[in-house]
Amino acid sequence: MKTIGLIGGMTPESTILYYRILNDLCLNKFGDSHSCKLIINSVDFGVISKLQKEGRWDLLNDIMADAAISLENAGANYILICANTMHLTIDAVRKAVSIPVIHIAEATAKQVKNEKLQKVALLGTKYTMENDFFIDILKSNNIETIIPEEDDRQIIHDVIYDELSKGILNLDSKNSYLKIIQKLIDKGAEGIILGCTEIPLLIFPEDVSVPTFDTTTIHATEVFNLAIK
Ligand code: GLU
Repeated sequence: MKTIGLIGGMTPESTILYYRILNDLCLNKFGDSHSCKLIINSVDFGVISKLQKEGRWDLLNDIMADAAISLENAGANYILICANTMHLTIDAVRKAVSIPVIHIAEATAKQVKNEKLQKVALLGTKYTMENDFFIDILKSNNIETIIPEEDDRQIIHDVIYDELSKGILNLDSKNSYLKIIQKLIDKGAEGIILGCTEIPLLIFPEDVSVPTFDTTTIHATEVFNLAIK
């Protein structure tokens, strides 16, 4: 198989998920102790989240492009940015390397289309819910997206940064998420995109009455299928 390059650390909690999912996929496919050929370049999330808050996407573009270049130089054949939010830098990353960078929203849109859903809700950081980069890709696949109302977006966002990114799993927060999800279902969402790579630590398919789309698993599976072609 080809070598997969992960830009990780955004946050470490979800990079662990990527590592586990990719190795599980490899073991299931090839059996007999096989594990995944991959390289992780883990960035410092303290620096990343501070620059996000300051709106310094110019510097974030540079950090992510440098991380991608070092993965390509180390022998990676594919790159994943292991976070939804940081796909805001994907143009800079793609420009910096000659290997494919697999977009998390493109992989997710394919899955939503496979399920034949037309209207989904997107949960993620405020950067992901309030910018167009994810929603536009869904739109170009004829999928309508709704997002939580403002107060609810703040709750979703704060739980990601204050709890999930630090490995804190809190039942009250889970219940708040489930209430917000129910409001979105009541507004017609036929599926819920877990558009932050840490949310699958808190919300599971069996918690929700409509299909959920775990972007961490979808993204990892997409690159795995390419790497074994
Ligand atoms: N992992 C998260 C995401 O998927 C949030 C952390 C970040 O800001 O990159 O958006």
